Amino acid sequence: MRHRRRRVLQGRILLFGLAVLTCPGLTASQQEGGITADRAIDKIIAKENELIKKLTEFRPLVETYIQNLAKDESLGAVPISDKYFLSRLDVKAGLRGQSLLDRPGEKKFHLNRTVVFEPDGFASMIVIDAKGFTRSNYTFRFLRREFLGDVRCLIFDIAPVKRQAGRFTGRIWVEDQDFNIVRFNGIHGPPPKLGEPLLWFHCDSWRQNAGPNLWLPSYVYSEETEDPKLNFKAQTRLWGYNVQKRTDLNEFTAVLVDSGTVRDAPEAVQDVSPLMATRAWQQQAEDNIIRRIEETGLFAAPGAVNTILETVIRNLEITNNLDVQPEVRTRVLLTSPLESFTIGHTIVISRGLIDVLPDEASLASVLAHELAHIVSGHNPNTKYAFSDSLLFDDVETLRKIFVRRDEREEAQADAKAAELLEKSPYKERLKDAGLFLRAMSDRIRFLPELLRPHFGNSMVRGSEVVRLASIMQAAPEVELKRHDQIAALPLGARLRASCAFCGFFLPVSVRVVGVIRGARITRA
Ligand SMILES: [Zn+2]
Repeated sequence: MRHRRRRVLQGRILLFGLAVLTCPGLTASQQEGGITADRAIDKIIAKENELIKKLTEFRPLVETYIQNLAKDESLGAVPISDKYFLSRLDVKAGLRGQSLLDRPGEKKFHLNRTVVFEPDGFASMIVIDAKGFTRSNYTFRFLRREFLGDVRCLIFDIAPVKRQAGRFTGRIWVEDQDFNIVRFNGIHGPPPKLGEPLLWFHCDSWRQNAGPNLWLPSYVYSEETEDPKLNFKAQTRLWGYNVQKRTDLNEFTAVLVDSGTVRDAPEAVQDVSPLMATRAWQQQAEDNIIRRIEETGLFAAPGAVNTILETVIRNLEITNNLDVQPEVRTRVLLTSPLESFTIGHTIVISRGLIDVLPDEASLASVLAHELAHIVSGHNPNTKYAFSDSLLFDDVETLRKIFVRRDEREEAQADAKAAELLEKSPYKERLKDAGLFLRAMSDRIRFLPELLRPHFGNSMVRGSEVVRLASIMQAAPEVELKRHDQIAALPLGARLRASCAFCGFFLPVSVRVVGVIRGARITRA
């Protein structure tokens, strides 16, 4: 935090320097990658403004998770409350979000009497300056070349010519092929001061390559820790750029083009037994629900993560002599709240839950509970086999799809899961899974939003962990100060440690393969 502030300060000192010396560190004739730095700046500005225009074609999902912190003598800072927003972003309407959450009217979050967080405010940190990124408004100073991951970048410090609200001060990383900004770090106004009508927060904003010459905003980390009354960290993720509006008439063209490999096979239609017909009907419900959640953009494209999840499931099946048909599939829900649930023979686990699980045995415990639902015959509601039940606007998805289980089925799945784990190779390693659940139970009071599921059953009830409670009870107490006990680590503590890029959180797409598949170009 402190170093970030220092960078911003550098930016401001720079501003004065520039006013006097016109162009320190960079001359119009200086060659950078075959072109002059002056020409590079023109290209950067043009590219950024092109991106702002391009973004109006998309309606990505944007998720913001905020943790408010308090100082703790031995642990540094500890979370004391949290807040969550999930919306579909409309850039055309001026970076406005349409909430997917079932909490209408609750569009803001009152941190205290003076500070109100607005989801659109966090979303606005995906661009440098939506209305005035021009040469006359900004000064640039070239610093050096640097690799960001494997992307070769030019780094500039930039500052506004005149201090105005919404004008950005800080550092930009620009890839040196097409001059797209791939990361920026700084603040869109003066540092926040309580009592002011509008506060700007420091941000570290990342973009991801989503196709030739296309870098789209994917991740923003933000924090303020100077003032005890304004002490928080937040992360905003964006994805689902490829999801098309369902009403898009061009989709019809795409269907015609894509349908070459799909053929109706009338010869396959045969008389089926009532049991087979029931299965087919349930399968229809399962496929419909999954397809609908996919269309909203809430599932990651299947990738390497699914292979890992399915390997753990196979391990559980083999050691328990189970032959589940059709084979159990998995999907990753791209949101942060910790949850897992089952739709027919598809197990869904949230990205947030995958991120905090400390090891394979903990993952196996979560998957065992879901596998238990499947082997116990807990089927999806077949009302979803009727297509009309899934015709609704994307922002209604969380409100219209109901896959929660009743308490009897939950208890049954827990009992069965304990049985499956007992015979599994994970049996001896369940201590960490129990520790994870215990750590979760310690935080329930403070982090209700992280533990509030979108679709599935909550893993907690009131202030108690109910999911897999027997595994938790077998684990030792959590000692937060002991580093050899790695239990639940909300908001990316582990990601922070594992980030190869920057020592910060890892952008989601690096961990979950294939999140952004780029703009669709299948149209004829
Ligand atoms: Zn369950």
